[in-house]
Amino acid sequence: MHPPCVTKAIVLRSWPFGESDKIVSFLTEDHGKVTGIAKGAKRSRKRFVNTLEPFSLVNLSFQDRPHSTLAFVHACDLIRAFKGLTVSLEKIAHASYLMEVTDGLAGEREENRLLFEHLREGLIFIEDRGTSLPFLTFFELKLLKLSGYQPMLEHCRRCGKNWAPDLQAKWRFSPRDGGILCESCSTFRKEAVPLSREALYVLAELQKANSILARHLSFLPSVLKEGRSALLRFIQFQLNKELKSAPFLETFSFA
Ligand SMILES: [Zn+2]
Repeated sequence: MHPPCVTKAIVLRSWPFGESDKIVSFLTEDHGKVTGIAKGAKRSRKRFVNTLEPFSLVNLSFQDRPHSTLAFVHACDLIRAFKGLTVSLEKIAHASYLMEVTDGLAGEREENRLLFEHLREGLIFIEDRGTSLPFLTFFELKLLKLSGYQPMLEHCRRCGKNWAPDLQAKWRFSPRDGGILCESCSTFRKEAVPLSREALYVLAELQKANSILARHLSFLPSVLKEGRSALLRFIQFQLNKELKSAPFLETFSFA
């Protein structure tokens, strides 16, 4: 038997298993996504004191089990509970959304420290500052980049034409092609979403930004919404399913 792996991790979700156990899915700093069984977690609150709640940042010790895809969770020590995320429905909803998209795009057992850091920073941002449309769009774009799905937003995905100089052309975003298409290349991609120049500009700028705090980002909410809706189509195309928590976010106005 290998010695247990110890790594920082964020609890993505957990659900009861049998009489007394829990299955827990983590995004870890060193091993990508890890799903494991926490024995006795439902019954004994002592062993895993509040450490298996979603959003918890923990020090996780786990061990792979022969003939099983589920790791054995030895211990979970709380580093940060993100209690501030649970004070409002809006924060809970947005933090849950971050978990759901990250969970969907992160690779099982693929080390990706930057992705782990991105989710951690995202949770800290929501806890400290609440949320906003630029933040969500930035989070999604960087998540796509870090998980290997960065959409092409500068040039037509097929012919390489740049959108910026051509004021009249109509552009579309094609989830299937993983980026934007010029008017002639999108002739046979009717499912591609039309995208205004303004929305393209906003997405391209946010994709270039290193941090949501790095620049003074002020974009029109209607333009951001347009860009984000194309991004969401793309994310759902990659996941091959609807995002459960996404429609609920629409109920918050970002005033
Ligand atoms: Zn083209």
